[in-house]
Amino acid sequence: MRIDIISVVPELLESPLSHSIVGRARKKGLVEIQVHNLREYGLGARRNVDDYSYGGDAGMVMMVEPVFNIIRDLRAERDYDEVIYMSPDGEILDQGISNDLSLKQNLIILCGHYKGIDHRIREHLVTREISIGDYVVSGGEIPAAILADSLVRLIPGALTDETSALSDSFQDGLLSAPVYTRPAEFNGWKVPEVLLSGNPKLIREWQDEQALERTKALRPQLLKNI
Ligand code: SAH
Repeated sequence: MRIDIISVVPELLESPLSHSIVGRARKKGLVEIQVHNLREYGLGARRNVDDYSYGGDAGMVMMVEPVFNIIRDLRAERDYDEVIYMSPDGEILDQGISNDLSLKQNLIILCGHYKGIDHRIREHLVTREISIGDYVVSGGEIPAAILADSLVRLIPGALTDETSALSDSFQDGLLSAPVYTRPAEFNGWKVPEVLLSGNPKLIREWQDEQALERTKALRPQLLKNI
């Protein structure tokens, strides 16, 4: 898989995509992530990427031409499955979307900044719009990092124990069961007895029951989708 991320603040993406599971997956060659500084496609001597909005609203808007040019150059190199724009009004990211996108070969993720991007980019160049939730953050970089992380961890080999992605919340439509580690007792707080039983069948039953109970209590909506 290859992910090309277009940004005006590429520094914001460096750390989240260079460490831990995503960083290791890149080093292992499971995924290639290229972060592109849109300013390299900026216009004029000052490399402008934004301009005042028509209609006089406060806030700058990212211009069509630099985005058009960088996407044209990327597309000249390879075919892309999707050009994704991170946007608060996009479809809200969930595990199903991540599962689906993790099977793609080549993705472009476009990060907005300022007041957003010229709407013609969304009409003519973007194929999918994704939100990380019903709130606004300052730029598309952190949303893009969240999306990329959620995809990369699903690539076989990215997690050391592959099955651990399968037992994560949402993967089977349920929240995950609680997890514990040593010591078995701290400060009088005990790990549930069954987990110390060494009986895989009983443990599995307990985990399934917990997953169901927690989903009923915390995300009842998920049960409607099963
Ligand atoms: N004026 C826009 C918000 C701009 S915020 C509006 O009201 O819809 C600047 C950029 O941050 C956006 O272009 C988008 O790329 C990103 N962004 C902000 N909130 C986001 C969210 N919830 N999900 C995905 N991207 C978001």
